[in-house]
Amino acid sequence: MHALKNSGKKILVLERGVYLPREKENWDSIAVFHHDRYHTKEVWKTNDDKDFHPQTGYWVGGNTKVYGAALFRLREKNFEGVTHPDGITPEWPLKYKDFEPYYTQAEKLYNVHGQCGEDPTEPYRSSEYPNPPVSHEPRIQEIHDELKAKGYSPFRLPIGVRLNEQDTLNSPCIRCDTCDGFPCMIHAKADSDINCVRPSLSSDVNITLMTEMKATKLITDASGKAIVSVEAERGDEKFSFTADIFVVAAGAINSAVLLLKSANETHPDGLANSSGMTGRNLMKHNNAAMLAISTKPNPTKFQKTLAVNDFYWGDDEFKFPMGHVQLMGKSNKDQLSPDAPFFTPGLVLDEMASHSVDWWFTGEDLPMPENRVTIKNEQIYLQYTETNIQGFTRLKDKWQSVLKEVDNVSHFVPHSLYLKKNIPLEGLAHQCGTCRFGNDPKTSVLDINCKTHDTDNLYVVDGSFFPSSGAVNPSLTIIANALRVGDHLLERMK
Ligand SMILES: Cc1cc2nc3c(=O)[nH]c(=O)nc-3n(C[C@H](O)[C@H](O)[C@H](O)COP(=O)(O)OP(=O)(O)OC[C@H]3O[C@@H](n4cnc5c(N)ncnc54)[C@H](O)[C@@H]3O)c2cc1C
Ligand code: SF4
Repeated sequence: MHALKNSGKKILVLERGVYLPREKENWDSIAVFHHDRYHTKEVWKTNDDKDFHPQTGYWVGGNTKVYGAALFRLREKNFEGVTHPDGITPEWPLKYKDFEPYYTQAEKLYNVHGQCGEDPTEPYRSSEYPNPPVSHEPRIQEIHDELKAKGYSPFRLPIGVRLNEQDTLNSPCIRCDTCDGFPCMIHAKADSDINCVRPSLSSDVNITLMTEMKATKLITDASGKAIVSVEAERGDEKFSFTADIFVVAAGAINSAVLLLKSANETHPDGLANSSGMTGRNLMKHNNAAMLAISTKPNPTKFQKTLAVNDFYWGDDEFKFPMGHVQLMGKSNKDQLSPDAPFFTPGLVLDEMASHSVDWWFTGEDLPMPENRVTIKNEQIYLQYTETNIQGFTRLKDKWQSVLKEVDNVSHFVPHSLYLKKNIPLEGLAHQCGTCRFGNDPKTSVLDINCKTHDTDNLYVVDGSFFPSSGAVNPSLTIIANALRVGDHLLERMK
């Protein structure tokens, strides 16, 4: 939408959600984490018929309203096909060089702060980050220095916040402790609503956004080669909209659902599914969170400033990729209590929270055809079996031993308590891959412009197109790809 705003074309955006309200609950851990205030109340099912609540939300701006805004580029090698113990990831039909100019644009558009030359796995860049790196608070700086002294390469995490540390009085971002996982009450986080949707809706641009308008079915012409309309509903009211070009951008799972639900006589297995790949190859990363608790207090407020890629491609003992380590938002006692035994008193949780450093791990999962989205009688089903656990487990163990090593030389308590928690299936934050792009219509859903192979005027432009997931957060690649497809559409509409 943002890429097309100056096209002069009439653009209609159907969004099933509303604008996320600005309210005190935005920054309330109980509302956000206990009451799932910003997640859908939908119930999805596993293939063995178990209900679960997907941790995903429907808002103008999508899941970027609550994301942590860690905005990473994939590494060059991620585009080439990478060998893991459980299999080889597919080569992408386009390479890093094709995405690089769009990554640069995306970083500008999303106010990314970062520092070149610190991350040992960093891909080449045609320009510096558009904004200086976000500084570490003292406790994190200590950890940074200790890691450095031990020969590791911690780096400033690239992050999209509208922060001006040189002029804090006028900085939109106030560096608070309720960012990662929370909406930003003061609209200082670079999200798709604030940075793209709202600026695209100015009166001199012919874009209309209809909220609470859920797309339910795409209708083709008799040949099945072109989409003629989209059906939608707002409550009990039904609508139908026509257009020349249709772009589906409902997130990897809901985009696949819409295509599958749009089955008709010419596309009996769902739209864009002649390959049988629509809804398959669902990936969501191997993700885990860990609290490293020591006797040293951690008064950090804005903690998401440091990351480590020393083990991204493996190490001397393990020649396969392990993944990525980054700091999370600083947790408080209310965020810990859902995981704590019911008798854990608040004071203990408070003590834990105030002495912990919170780490997040991401490992690459493989695109497996059997990991998939299906629908039965309007019900969404997910089938997902974990892959590449070996490397991911090593990553978590390795990081624990690194932190212990750091303990031994400075202020960590030798017997620090570590809590580990794997994110279960409902943690779908990094969902991708369900409509992979490729050159071969037999093995992919989309062509390299993210147009469906099977129809002439239908595009899918969100996390669905990933052939593989790499092991860094996905959003910058989703944004860069949207800008790339935007250029193609501008060319097509000339
Ligand atoms: C807590 C959390 C933290 C995260 N942190 C990070 C991070 O630090 N870095 C990072 O890179 N990524 C992060 N992510 C992931 C990131 O938010 C997603 O990768 C990204 O938002 C996916 O973009 P998308 O366009 O594919 O889908 P979405 O953001 O889900 O957007 C889909 C849009 O389509 C709408 N929609 C869905 N179905 C329909 C329909 N049928 N009709 C009409 N509209 C529909 C939705 O309401 C939504 O607006 C995080 C996610 C979460 C939940
Ligand atoms: S840290 Fe900045 S961007 Fe994040 S929620 Fe706080 S004010 Fe908003």
